[in-house]
Amino acid sequence: MRNIKNILVTGASGFIGSNFIKNLLEHQDLGRNLKTIINIDKLTYAGDRENNFDYENNPKYKFIKGDICNQDLISSILKEFNVDVIVNFAAESHVDNSIESPDEFIQTNIFGTFNLLRCLQKFNASLNKRAIMLHISTDEVFGSLKLNDPGFTETNSYKPNSPYSASKASSDHLVQAWHKTYGLPTLITNCSNNYGPNQNFEKLIPKIIKCAFKKEEITIYGDGQNIRDWLFVDDHCKGIIKVLLEGKFGETYNIGGNNEITNIEIAEIICNLLENAYPFDKNPIKNNDCNNYEDLITFVSDRLGHDFRYSIDATKIEKDLDWYPEETFETGISKTISWYLEKLIKND
Ligand code: NAD
Repeated sequence: MRNIKNILVTGASGFIGSNFIKNLLEHQDLGRNLKTIINIDKLTYAGDRENNFDYENNPKYKFIKGDICNQDLISSILKEFNVDVIVNFAAESHVDNSIESPDEFIQTNIFGTFNLLRCLQKFNASLNKRAIMLHISTDEVFGSLKLNDPGFTETNSYKPNSPYSASKASSDHLVQAWHKTYGLPTLITNCSNNYGPNQNFEKLIPKIIKCAFKKEEITIYGDGQNIRDWLFVDDHCKGIIKVLLEGKFGETYNIGGNNEITNIEIAEIICNLLENAYPFDKNPIKNNDCNNYEDLITFVSDRLGHDFRYSIDATKIEKDLDWYPEETFETGISKTISWYLEKLIKND
């Protein structure tokens, strides 16, 4: 187990990073040993400091508003806090946005990762230190699968299809190159679709819950048969912590939930659960065209280049690091719906 005192977490006012810090503080060994957790976040439309509310007064937690592309800022943070690890969540993360306007994806996802690597390399050289870069990536770098193809393993070749996945693939290659060329201690995780608290309402599951709550159309791309492998965000964060503490430098680890579900099934499951949690006929919003939440589901033209299926084979992290998801989709989605309902009712 590595001795880690000071962690720089990038993009931790977003969905997964904010949950990651909560999991860090709750971790029985790391939580106690950690001295400082620095969150650097540019606070784009996807970042919200409310996501850090639970621990914002914890003396170990520091927030810095800033851009991972800023060389002087990153270098000074590494020095000031004597950082042992960078965990890089900062990214433009929404595929639809990458199709409409890819520029920021290239800047943050590729150049930003390069900048973190370059600053860490110089910092290590100046102090003869071995600070670590853990880069958070996605299963989308592997491209799209057919229905009966086996899940992605760490040795699958990269075949990204969207500007988002291509930018993440590029960043993964840079991280590998910094390990091979300069010996930087690096780790990469490639994870499937996450769900849980703090996710932006632009993403599938929060969007379905919000539209249902407001009795607005729940739009589903194409015929709704696209398949994603869903993982509860806390399980992802626990996997990242395992990799951070015990992963082998230069390696990548796939993290997945073994929960392949079509988009239309996701919408139906949520609508059915909402009927119990917040019945349609007791919901005060009027919509005379529908009798239940499922009636709100509408199919719209498919996303350009929409990948059909992603599936993760997580055997490596299970066998090497003894990581397994704790949450089933049933338990995870119920917690998720309750969390968003509470937020929507509070803000209504
Ligand atoms: P998110 O969009 O919710 O959060 C991204 C955060 O990064 C935001 O707080 C934003 O303000 C910040 N940010 C953006 N550009 C920045 C910059 N230049 N400098 C500093 N901060 C910046 O994303 P997420 O869903 O939490 O994803 C986090 C990481 O995990 C991403 O790298 C993503 O590729 C990866 N990932 C996400 C999923 C998923 O299902 N959400 C699955 C696998 C991997």
